[in-house]
Amino acid sequence: MPELDENLRDAERHLDRFRSAPTLNWINGVPRAAIAGQVFQNSTPIDNSKLGEIARSQAEDIDLAACSAQQAFMNWRAASGHERRQVLHRIADLIERRAREIALVECLDTGQAIRYMSKAALRGAENFRFFADRAPQANDGLSLPADTHHNYTIRQPIGAVGIITPWNTPFMLSTWKIAPALAAGCTVVHKPAEWSPLTATLLAEIATEAGLPNGVWNLVHGLGEEAGKALTEHPAIKAVGFVGESATGCRIMAQGASTLKRVHFELGGKNPVVVFDDADLDRALDAVIFMLYSLNGERCTSSSRLLVHHNIAADFLARLCDRVRNIRVGHPLDPETEVGPLVHKSHFDKVVGYFDIAKKDGATIAVGGHALPRHGQNYVAPTLFTGVTGKMRVAQEEIFGPVLCAIEFGSEDEAIAVANDVPYGLAAYVWTENVGRAQRMAHALDVGMVWVNSDNVRHLPSPFGGVKASGIGRDGGDYSFDFYMETKNVCVAMGSHKIARLGV
Ligand code: NAD
Repeated sequence: MPELDENLRDAERHLDRFRSAPTLNWINGVPRAAIAGQVFQNSTPIDNSKLGEIARSQAEDIDLAACSAQQAFMNWRAASGHERRQVLHRIADLIERRAREIALVECLDTGQAIRYMSKAALRGAENFRFFADRAPQANDGLSLPADTHHNYTIRQPIGAVGIITPWNTPFMLSTWKIAPALAAGCTVVHKPAEWSPLTATLLAEIATEAGLPNGVWNLVHGLGEEAGKALTEHPAIKAVGFVGESATGCRIMAQGASTLKRVHFELGGKNPVVVFDDADLDRALDAVIFMLYSLNGERCTSSSRLLVHHNIAADFLARLCDRVRNIRVGHPLDPETEVGPLVHKSHFDKVVGYFDIAKKDGATIAVGGHALPRHGQNYVAPTLFTGVTGKMRVAQEEIFGPVLCAIEFGSEDEAIAVANDVPYGLAAYVWTENVGRAQRMAHALDVGMVWVNSDNVRHLPSPFGGVKASGIGRDGGDYSFDFYMETKNVCVAMGSHKIARLGV
């Protein structure tokens, strides 16, 4: 396995710095230890061994970062869209230059397989380029002429914003949130997830090297209940862009209430993929497998509920079982690996806990349903539950692992009812050759995004986000600017319209 050996060698080289010295915050353009000197331990999911120590920030560190972002805001908002565009493109250049380092570090920090992560850095660079090119138009508004007045709108950046990200694909997700904030003219305090802190540091370094002015991008490491909470409560932070669990979203909304935070939430999902009997079943099968078992099933848009029509269920599920049994589990740096270890022992415990829950609820474990200790402590076998009904816990709750549950249905109405009967509403996938049915389903499903005859191919100008417990707000294209900017209306009289005269 020469490629695995080479990846391991290179990864070790890049990890050396994280092992030999604590990973610091990045405030006002320079690395800084947490003021109280505290650290927490970071580990790799491959064998749960220590990867290094990370600054454990408290409210005083957040205060430093938030004030630095607040101070930097005046100059950054005054920079022209053209200047912002240039520096964001330079960030993208440097991400591309360090793409392999980012991919290797991300794999060892998260357990994600290199076959996916090798593209994550490039996707991150693409996010920066996309929003860089929109920076010059970010302030644009509407012209709304009336009879006697001309109304027009302009958009202005909201101020210093907090960005809080999860551990599943931390690098890509951080770029997705931070790039539009910077393009809009906001300054940022980023709090990455404590289970996957490393690539956030690479990003902050890159931003400084690219010439982003000090204080425009600040990074604070720490635990959610400490650093994350303090960030959402800080009065200098005008808005919080959060990606993570729905329950955390609820907490953040409460924490931000007394400072009237604007919030944008990208939360959990329990996304249905509905396969009708007239679908292109070969393509549907590929998509069902890819959209659940890639990224270790730790993907917000994963199609974790397969709704399959009675007429084709037996054959489709038999083919699905064969393919799931064949999924290659292994070391994240092995290019052959399709599923790696789960990010953390606690998350592993949560996922394997669902095997008993499924049995107790009466589902059948058709494939997997056990850990894979011969690979390492955090590995689980790709799993398929069949005979699932919509009310079972495995059909209702986000498992966030390589675990798919299959539910059979008989009619379009039944499919819609089952698909909508969960607290979440992020994404749905529909497979049918019937154009009218595809449209009816797309309109009836209570979700923020529907893909028809497709896996989740992303288009950066299109809106991304969920309804119900899956989120508030949309990202992508101009939708991102709506969050990071305030719309101001200017109303100019065109002549001498009549003004009411009092006290004459
Ligand atoms: P999480 O909610 O546990 O943590 C996310 C971040 O929030 C971390 O940085 C954490 O430190 C911080 N945090 C925790 N408590 C906090 C608090 N009280 N105040 C402020 N910050 C706090 O989520 P996770 O386990 O890291 O990520 C997995 C979840 O993210 C899944 O539910 C997944 O569906 C969701 N997700 C959603 C999307 C989307 O676009 N909808 C994308 C990726 C992941």
